[in-house]
Amino acid sequence: MKITFQGAAGTVTGSQHLIEVNGKKILLDCGLFQGSRKESFEQNRNEFCEGKNIHCLVLSHAHIDHSGRIPCLVKNGFSGDIFCTSATRDLCAVMLMDSAFIQEKDVEFVNRRRQKNGQRPFEPLYTKTNVASSMQQFIGLSYDRRQQISPGVYLTLVDAGHMLGSAHVILDIDDQESGKHRRLVFSGDIGRPDIPIIRDPTPIRDGADILIMESTYGNRVHPPYPESEKELERIVNETVSRGGVLLVPAFAVGRTQQLVYALHKLHTARAIPDIPIYVDSPLATRTTEIFRLHPEVYDAEIREFMLHDDDNNPFGFGRLQYTQTAEQSKALNNLKGTAVIISASGMMQSGRILHHLRNRISDSRNTILISGWQAPNTLGRRIVDQEASVRIFGEEFAVKAKAEVLTGFSGHADREGLIDFVRVMDKKPQRTFIIHGESDASESLAEGLRSELALGNVTIPHSLQSFVV
Ligand SMILES: [Zn+2]
Ligand SMILES: [Zn+2]
Repeated sequence: MKITFQGAAGTVTGSQHLIEVNGKKILLDCGLFQGSRKESFEQNRNEFCEGKNIHCLVLSHAHIDHSGRIPCLVKNGFSGDIFCTSATRDLCAVMLMDSAFIQEKDVEFVNRRRQKNGQRPFEPLYTKTNVASSMQQFIGLSYDRRQQISPGVYLTLVDAGHMLGSAHVILDIDDQESGKHRRLVFSGDIGRPDIPIIRDPTPIRDGADILIMESTYGNRVHPPYPESEKELERIVNETVSRGGVLLVPAFAVGRTQQLVYALHKLHTARAIPDIPIYVDSPLATRTTEIFRLHPEVYDAEIREFMLHDDDNNPFGFGRLQYTQTAEQSKALNNLKGTAVIISASGMMQSGRILHHLRNRISDSRNTILISGWQAPNTLGRRIVDQEASVRIFGEEFAVKAKAEVLTGFSGHADREGLIDFVRVMDKKPQRTFIIHGESDASESLAEGLRSELALGNVTIPHSLQSFVV
């Protein structure tokens, strides 16, 4: 069996790993690289995305850095099955369409410049038509149902507790070449216990022979979740007392629903004043509908909440409005007085959040609340790094609004959670590969696994490195 790390190696985004076993090629994830516009544009085009020889694909979850190049793979000849959970399939239907829209917009921007220089225009990485044909190949599975996906290879998806539909991928493999039975576990993104809405990650107690695991927060410790809700309460109240607007750039899927639910609870408990709250992201609106379709994956807390809540709707309440049209979104620019605006994208590279930032970033009464990991060279990372001024739509703006960072809303396990993921395994992996992290985080996790669990054979692969295992 051979494993090649084609993405998210030495970095977080672009998750894609190739398994070659029993004469077949199986791809784990097929994600988009995200980062500086120019660099990721080139990476997504040039890095390996050849579909013809791939037998099938297993998708851990719907986040774009894991799923965002699937339409490109299909466009390039991939005709096999795509296995994932049913919720992931449904989320991909809206998220990949949104991604195609962004691809088409991005290429327009690049082509305008190319045309000026007399260069041949680029095609978009993929279009909505490519997305529609990709959706034909998805097969939605339930958690914990074993399924054969290729000769001698059996797939089980277990709940990763990271976002709606997220899974740890277990492959039980009868390797014809070595005659050995081996279990390969691909962690996908590892969630955290106690975050609301979705269930806690399912421990893989049987363990693994070969482990491929993420390390996003391999060098960080998150505060417990309830503290983060308290922090959110403080941040809302401080912003209101300054008469400002709280801007929350957030991933449309997962983070937005969590924040809405937390604000709903604070509002019901009268811990925050009765101010208008806007979710200004068409994608968030659509995915909230998908959340409502999948109560089978809710945790006990939210099921209880739905029973007792007057609106019977964790994602909607009196002061909350989902804005739909571009006009409604732009009208928020003229909003006087205090409010909360949640908008995408989470790393502030695209989407409606940009016009809200342009409008409000230079006013010291306002707050920008960052609740997720920010890739290097993104606008989000520049604000986290407290740069005095930033460029938005090609124009320079002084950063006067207060920036607050809350990692407690993260859907990713911290260092301890990651180490525990392996600690609970009865059979410890003989071979561990650390991926999906910046080098400090990956190294810190590798060191922790070696020193705390005496794990041997821990490797941080670099991009395109192959291993025969
Ligand atoms: Zn993720
Ligand atoms: Zn990820």
